[in-house]
Amino acid sequence: MTLRGKVALVTGGSKGIGRAIALAFAEAGADVAVAARGVPELERLVGEIEARGVRGLAVRCDVTDPDQVAAMVMTTAEGLGPVEILVNNAGLAESHKFLGHPDDLWHRSLAVNLTGTYYVCKAAAPQMVERRRGRIINIASVASKVGGRYVAAYTAAKHGVLGLTRALAIELVPYGITVNAICPGYVDTPMTQASVENIARRTGRSEDEARRYLESTSPQNRLIEPEEVAAVARMLASEAARGVTGQAINVDGGAVMV
Ligand code: NDP
Repeated sequence: MTLRGKVALVTGGSKGIGRAIALAFAEAGADVAVAARGVPELERLVGEIEARGVRGLAVRCDVTDPDQVAAMVMTTAEGLGPVEILVNNAGLAESHKFLGHPDDLWHRSLAVNLTGTYYVCKAAAPQMVERRRGRIINIASVASKVGGRYVAAYTAAKHGVLGLTRALAIELVPYGITVNAICPGYVDTPMTQASVENIARRTGRSEDEARRYLESTSPQNRLIEPEEVAAVARMLASEAARGVTGQAINVDGGAVMV
């Protein structure tokens, strides 16, 4: 499943799942642009990408701003070539009870998780359409498929990402572009560590207990490693997966089976 000669763009590429995907793509031979708001972590990652014998590029971008998104896609094209593999991974998972839910949390969650994905797809798709090939991989969540307590905004946004994935999969079929989603359960990343700390703070449990609670939500009784999500992304990005589109693949130890 080589990606040699392909150009990939990974949003939210500096940490966690995005970082693992960027390194897996580099390992497979792709040139990789990584984008996020924080530049120092991106620049360190570019060194690790280039150590794998491919080209890397760090692009500062807040995906909630369509002008920055357009500039990110243009900078990637100028630096590495037209984007052929796009991974929409930038995300935000803040939780709150629905009663008394802050409106700004609702808007923030929709802006990053859903509207950000929409802006990046819109900016990158024309290059794929022109070249009659492309891969769009949206990092959704099991929260794209089932509801959960205290995550109304995140769940609504991630359900939206799955809807967008399916709509684009059909609309972009004529241009040789596949569009798929990956739906992880709890993954061992800085985002999940923040959830552990939040649960510990709110419930008085220790961080170890909070982590074990998150692990227990999976039948495998463990957190998923970022590299496991990256392996599925690499498969979806490859030529071997050209017949797979409009799908939402769970990587969650069997917790959700729809
Ligand atoms: P992390 O919080 O560990 O990393 C998030 C990344 O997104 C960082 O690189 C961050 O960098 C970037 N980011 C955040 N906001 C923006 C923004 N507005 N514009 C551009 N980049 C941004 O998250 P994970 O690796 O855990 O999650 C990655 C994706 O996977 C998310 O979409 C998340 O919803 C999804 N997911 C995660 C699960 C988990 O258990 N961890 C489970 C299911 C899905 P910076 O702050 O510098 O911008």
